[in-house]
Amino acid sequence: MINIVLFGKPGAGKGTQAEFLKGKYNLTHLSTGDIFRYNIKNETALGQLAKTYMDQGDLVPDEVTIQMLQSEVDNNPQSSGFLFDGFPRTIAQAQALDAFLESKGQKITATIALEADDEILVQRLLERGKTSGRPDDQDEEKIRNRYDEYNQKTAPLMQFYQEQGKFHAVDGIGSIAEITERLSNVIDRL
Ligand code: AMP
Repeated sequence: MINIVLFGKPGAGKGTQAEFLKGKYNLTHLSTGDIFRYNIKNETALGQLAKTYMDQGDLVPDEVTIQMLQSEVDNNPQSSGFLFDGFPRTIAQAQALDAFLESKGQKITATIALEADDEILVQRLLERGKTSGRPDDQDEEKIRNRYDEYNQKTAPLMQFYQEQGKFHAVDGIGSIAEITERLSNVIDRL
């Protein structure tokens, strides 16, 4: 059983790559952003809460996010491994994930970062915003806020996973197929 954290800044291509990797390695793809958006669309209480943060480009509070993620994992007992996309995004989330997986006799196998320059990513998100319909992709100020959130709260996770000997990084600039291959090279050697 392998559990992979796909790591990277907004727009780095985590979701796109997850679509390819989940089939190739038979993993359950869990994107917290997608789950929040599903809840917003269906007007659940969770969605209403998450929306107030997401629309501003702020992170949704840890307790809410951790609880949601844990119930998604629990809802997939037959899974042969998870591909976490957009989670964890804070040290508290990473610690909670470690403890939660340990309670199930599992662990994170590796964290793989998709690396790319901020300016390229901002342009990519603004471009995506023209078709994604996502309010957080359409306004440069909100996008910049997402990067601030990343730099303050998420970037420290690199060291967290480095200390566990689980951090890997690949160049996130290139064709989709090239990047899938770079990620696969890391996974195949785990
Ligand atoms: P994403 O689709 O991964 O870019 O996430 C979109 C938005 O959902 C983020 O800007 C946050 O507001 C929220 N979100 C997604 N995942 C998390 C997380 N792990 N912790 C807190 N907020 C999250």
